[in-house]
Amino acid sequence: MRPSGHVPLTVGGEVRSAADAVARAKSPRFRAAYVHVPFCRHKCHYCDFYSFVDDQDRGEAFVRRLEEELAAAGSFLREPLETVFVGGGTPTMLPPVLLERMLRAIRRELPLRPDVEWTVEANPETVSEEIAATLVACGVTRVSLGAQSFDPALLAALERHHDPASVPRAVARLRSAGIRELNLDLIFGIPGSTLVQWREDLSRAIDLGPDHLSAYGLVYEPNTPLTVKLRKGMVTRLDEEIEAEQSIHAVDALAEAGYARYEISNWAKPGCECQHNLLYWENADWWAFGPSGSAHADGVRWKNVPRLSDWLEDGPFSPVQDVECLGEDTRAGEAFMLGLRLMRGIGRSRVTELLAMGERGGERAQAIKRHETTGLLVWRDDRLQLTARGLMVADSVLAELV
Ligand code: SF4
Repeated sequence: MRPSGHVPLTVGGEVRSAADAVARAKSPRFRAAYVHVPFCRHKCHYCDFYSFVDDQDRGEAFVRRLEEELAAAGSFLREPLETVFVGGGTPTMLPPVLLERMLRAIRRELPLRPDVEWTVEANPETVSEEIAATLVACGVTRVSLGAQSFDPALLAALERHHDPASVPRAVARLRSAGIRELNLDLIFGIPGSTLVQWREDLSRAIDLGPDHLSAYGLVYEPNTPLTVKLRKGMVTRLDEEIEAEQSIHAVDALAEAGYARYEISNWAKPGCECQHNLLYWENADWWAFGPSGSAHADGVRWKNVPRLSDWLEDGPFSPVQDVECLGEDTRAGEAFMLGLRLMRGIGRSRVTELLAMGERGGERAQAIKRHETTGLLVWRDDRLQLTARGLMVADSVLAELV
C-alpha cells in the first residue's frame, strides 16, 4: 500500500539528478552514505535487488564514475558522516585493486567521523585473505556476510552457490585481518526446510561468535523468478506453522546465546547494533551512490536510475527517478512504521507529535487504542512498543498506522 500524502515532485523544474533532489530539501542533514555495487557472480532467484552478472567487465568504469560523484557530493556533506554502508550486489566481487580504489575514494572524498561505522557486504566465497586485508587497510570496521544457511540442500533451494565451509573460513580471515564487527545474515522459511534444520543453522551461526545476526523470513518479492516458480507450482511455500515455529525458535535461541533483539529481524551483542540501519529506522538523511541506490533528505526521497549503462552515462551526480516530496501525513505514517520495528518503540512525546501531523492522526490514535486492547501494542516505560504477539503480526499492525 502506498501511504497517502505523497506528492510527486514536479513543481518548479525538473529533478534530474541527486543534486537537484537535494536542492529541494529544506534543511538536509546527511548522517550516512550508502554505496550500491551492482555486480554478482550469479543472480539468486529470490533476489529483487538491482544486481547482475556483468559480462562486459565494467568494474573499472563503475569505480571511475563513482569517484566522480563522491568528489562532487563531498561539498554537500558538511558534517562528518556517522556511518557508511557499501552493499549490493556483492561489493567484494570487485577485483582487490578496484575494491581498494573505491574504498580509498570513499575515505578521501567523504567527511567521516573518526569513529565511523563502515560496513561492507560480502558473500563468504569472495573473502580471500587479500580482500580481508584490503578492507581493514582502507578503514572498514564491519562486514556483513550473507551466510543464509549452512545446509547445502537449502542453499541450493535459494540458488546460493557457496559451500557452507566458506562461512567459517571467511569469518576467520576477517577476524584475523582485524575486522572489529561481523554480521551474519540467515534466512528461514525456505521451501522444504524443517525446524530441526533451522535449529542447526542458528547453532552453527552462533558458534562462529558474530557480533550481530540478521534472521529474515524468505520473502516472495513480486517479479522474481522464485515468485514465478511459486505461481507455476514449481515451488511449494513452507507451511506457515513451521515458519512461525522457526521464527519463535530464533527469538529463544538468540536470547539464550546473549544476543538482544533490537529490531524485528535483527539481534546484536551489547553495543553492536548496526548504527547504519538504526539511522534508516530513525528516518535520518542519507546520500546514496551507485545505480538503484535510494536516498532521503528531509522529506525528499529519490532513487538513482537502476540500469548501470544509464547511470554510467550521466554525471557527476546520479541521474534519478521516483522523486517524492513527502507530505506531513506520509512522514508521520513512515515514522510509526519504522520506529515500531525497533524493540524500544517510540517515546510518548514523539507519538503525540506524530499524531498531530497530517490528516490521519485521529485514525491512527484509534488504531493504537484498538491494538492496546487486542494486546498487540503496549505502553512500556512511557514508550509505545509492539508486544511479543504484535511482533508476530507486525506487518498488519504497521500497515494500519502507516
Ligand atoms: S548474492 Fe545477494 S545481491 Fe547477489 S543475487 Fe544473490 S541475493 Fe542478490
